[in-house]
Order: sequence, then structure tokens, then C-alpha cells
Amino acid sequence: MFGDTQYHIVPRKGEYFLFDKTAAGMVNHVVFQCPTIMGKGVLIAPTVHGNVIVGPNAIDIEDKENCATTYEGANEIMEKARRSIITLGTRDLITAFAGLRAHNECDDFIIEFSQNEKNVLHLVGIESPGLSAAPAIAKHVREQYLSTHATVNEKSDFKPERTPPIRFKELDNEARRALIDADKAYGRVVCRCETITEGEILDAIRAPAGARDVDGVKRRTSAGMGRCQGGFCGSKVVEILAKELGVPINSITKFGGNSGILFEKTK
Ligand SMILES: Cc1cc2nc3c(=O)[nH]c(=O)nc-3n(C[C@H](O)[C@H](O)[C@H](O)COP(=O)(O)OP(=O)(O)OC[C@H]3O[C@@H](n4cnc5c(N)ncnc54)[C@H](O)[C@@H]3O)c2cc1C
Repeated sequence: MFGDTQYHIVPRKGEYFLFDKTAAGMVNHVVFQCPTIMGKGVLIAPTVHGNVIVGPNAIDIEDKENCATTYEGANEIMEKARRSIITLGTRDLITAFAGLRAHNECDDFIIEFSQNEKNVLHLVGIESPGLSAAPAIAKHVREQYLSTHATVNEKSDFKPERTPPIRFKELDNEARRALIDADKAYGRVVCRCETITEGEILDAIRAPAGARDVDGVKRRTSAGMGRCQGGFCGSKVVEILAKELGVPINSITKFGGNSGILFEKTK
């Protein structure tokens, strides 16, 4: 990038399993195994939303777009996870997904200015634990690199905290009633597994950097993240998106690009 060709990134794929909330209580804290040279190993952990997550494995691949889950990966994860919980079954498994770690050969984060573009700072190979390290990386970059290279002023209107979105299911009945009186859309539950209302979906679409596709709504509201994985509410979310954005229903995608959902009328 920017003519700096010295980096060699290997996509290191990791697959995860997500278990339904009915599996909550299987573990009360993160159960780690011994790390290997490839990563932290297969863990079993409760999620902040009350599910249980199992994974990841770690396989170096060539295709940097390949986020497919595989039969072999599933077997590997279950076999390794059963070293922690011998009775672990698949009955409450609701979905599987994969991500790619940006692994680089030196096995460390690389933070340095481009050799070709003086105003470009590279942050290369920010693989695990890049998420946990992100606040520290940002601070380090600001203090060690940007401050010596440029005048960096904090935005005068910077808000370190955002207003939390309405979570209908977390409100008491009185607050729910007041909300529905103010806007009937909060009285229409769209995602029954996660109890997400039409009002919350509209809020997610209307927010700054609002949702524009089904996965965008899912990430912001958790509609479609429950047991049925959007089997029931998916079509309703498509309808709400199309109506709110004022676009044809067949232009709504799952996650942008070619991920179309509806193509033509069948009757
Ligand atoms: C299986 C797995 C397990 C992991 N486990 C952990 C863990 O336990 N702990 C931990 O701390 N970290 C973990 N990580 C690593 C963590 O996810 C990454 O370190 C972190 O997400 C890196 O952040 P980033 O901002 O550099 O990149 P990303 O999070 O990848 O963000 C880059 C963003 O840029 C967008 N983008 C790409 N190209 C373009 C473009 N041309 N235009 C506009 N946008 C673009 C992408 O869509 C993406 O949203 C794990 C990663 C994987 C894959």
C-alpha cells in the first residue's frame, strides 16, 4: 500500500460457534486452554448478550476474502472444546461464522510511517489481541507518532460517550407504555426471539451512520440474532428498510454488494 511492499500478510482464519441463550450457564466465565503458536486456542465463553461462544480455530489460508465456515473447522473446534467440557453437544448451536486475522511474519504489530508517503502511518498486522489493544494503540499512535509529526487537536465537539439506543426489552412496563403512547412503532415486536420492536429498527436506520442493510440492522439492534437467526423477522426487516429508505424492496441486501435477498415476484 502506498508503494510499501515490504509487508507480507497471511490471512489466518478463525471459526466460531454461537450457542443459544438456553445454553447460558454452561460456563460462568471464559474457559481458556493453553495457547499454541497459532493463537490463544479454543475457548468457551459467556457473551455479554447471554449466549455462549465456542472457538476459534486458526488456519492460514491464501484467499483474503474467504470467510467460509467448514465441516473440518467445525469438527476441530468441537473436538478441542470437548477437552474443556466433555459433554458439549450441538443441540443449542444457532450459528457459525469466521473471520480473518491479519497475521504478519514478524508476529507483532507493526506501527511505522510509510517509506513513500510522509503523511501515511501504517498499522500492520493488528491481529489478536488487536481489539483489546485498540485503545492503547490509539493512545500510543497519538502520543508517539502524531504529536511529533503534526499538530493534532481534539475536536471541540468530540463526544466520548454516545447516547445509548432504546432497548425496549430492558424497560419496565411503565416505561414501555409511555414509549408506545409516544410512538406506536415501539409496540410492534418484529424480532420475537430477541424482543426487538419496529421503533428500535427505525431508530437504527435513522441514526447517524444508520443501517442500510439487514446485517446493519442486526448489528445495531440484535434483530435476527436469536434462535431463529432471522428466519421469521428477516423479511419484515427488509420491508421496513425499503419503506424507510424509500427504495424498491428488491434493492435491499443482506450486507451490501451482491448479497441480494429478493429478486422478482413469484405470484
Ligand atoms: C477469529 C478471530 C479471533 C480474534 N480474537 C481476538 C481476541 O480474542 N481478542 C482481541 O483483542 N482481538 C481478537 N481478534 C483480532 C481483532 O478482531 C482485530 O485485531 C481487530 O478487529 C483489528 O481491528 P482493525 O480496526 O485493525 O481492523 P478491522 O476490525 O478489520 O476493521 C477494518 C474495517 O475496515 C473496513 N474496510 C476494509 N476495506 C475498506 C475499504 N476499502 N473502504 C472502507 N472500509 C474498509 C472493514 O470492513 C472493517 O470494518 C480476533 C480476530 C479473529 C479473526
